[in-house]
Amino acid sequence: MGNNIKLHDKVFKPYLSNEVIEAAIDRLAEKVNADFEGSGDVPIFLCVLNGAIMFTAAMMKRLRFKAELVSIKLSSYQGTSSTGTVLIPIGLTAPVRDRRVIIFEDIVDTGNTIVALKEMLLSKGAKEVRICTMLMKPEVYSKDTVLDYVGMKIPNAFIVGYGLDYDELGRNLPDIYVVDEPKDKNMKYYILFGPPGAGKGTQATAMVEKYNLHHISTGALLRKEIADCTELGLKAKNLIEEGALVPDEVVEGMIESEFRRVSGVDGFLLDGFPRTIAQAEALDAILKRTGEKVTSVVSIMIPDWMIVERISHRAAIEGRTDDSDVTIIKSRIDTYHNQTEPLIDYYKKAGLYNEIDGIGTIEEVRDRIFELVDKF
Ligand code: 5GP
Repeated sequence: MGNNIKLHDKVFKPYLSNEVIEAAIDRLAEKVNADFEGSGDVPIFLCVLNGAIMFTAAMMKRLRFKAELVSIKLSSYQGTSSTGTVLIPIGLTAPVRDRRVIIFEDIVDTGNTIVALKEMLLSKGAKEVRICTMLMKPEVYSKDTVLDYVGMKIPNAFIVGYGLDYDELGRNLPDIYVVDEPKDKNMKYYILFGPPGAGKGTQATAMVEKYNLHHISTGALLRKEIADCTELGLKAKNLIEEGALVPDEVVEGMIESEFRRVSGVDGFLLDGFPRTIAQAEALDAILKRTGEKVTSVVSIMIPDWMIVERISHRAAIEGRTDDSDVTIIKSRIDTYHNQTEPLIDYYKKAGLYNEIDGIGTIEEVRDRIFELVDKF
């Protein structure tokens, strides 16, 4: 993908490549084909202008059943935020009575636009209304209405490209870009480091509170994906159960979108990431893009026998299946020694490595950490 671009007063950085978007549209089109092909029905494709023009065209090329194309123009956006009111400058150009309608929308944000449109179509006698959106922002979607077909879920950030505009510019871009908000250059990036069971989670909570940090635990982010049964979650589940690591690019993508999504904190606390040199290099690259860097590594050290003891104890309390089996624990310790320990050297060379003795009460270890972090 290309470089940053400027539209009006804002800078946007590359976010989703055309290839990624088209792959999502391939998957969406297959679902719609599966539902409508062979039904004998001739539904109406309703393109929500102007944003959904490219998406509608891309979908139509892939759909294999007869349909009619109708357009409508609605808008609840002004500048880069949703106004909440739905305006209707151009009305429906064809009757929808007794017809099945598939709405093609570029992006669903609060859901005001799409839900108002669905209700309007039903009030005009449409037999059935399905919603097919290229993108949606789950954090801001506030409606109960089910979105029948969703291409990709994205964090709450303003994007342009592939039909989406910033005050009418950017619609022609084949890739999607996200607004590059100026970041507080004094943000801290701490890495909490140590073998499984070293007490990272407990100490992270104390650090987050004292230093106003946002805690990023890759384990917790992944467990959420698994609980939500997302595609990523299902993939990760098998690997985690074998005690292996989830592919780097998946984890890196999750981390970068957390940096982008969260505001109002003085920094981030990374717990469980990076675990490999490749991930450490990727983290450096992510931060370099915004002119930032890792502040410090806080490494909590405990011996192997204590790792087994602590993990088994935690498994009993939290009921974590990935922690309950001694062979799985052993495999995680091996993974740690082989892949993670080289990071000590990496961060020593960068002058960022600080070791804390992890033996002692929670409070003793916490005070050692505070004494260190107070210096930064
Ligand atoms: P909603 O009514 O769901 O809050 O907003 C939906 C409409 O807002 C979309 O059709 C789209 O026109 C616009 N919109 C929502 N999020 C974005 C975004 O990130 N970028 C752009 N360019 N438009 C957006």
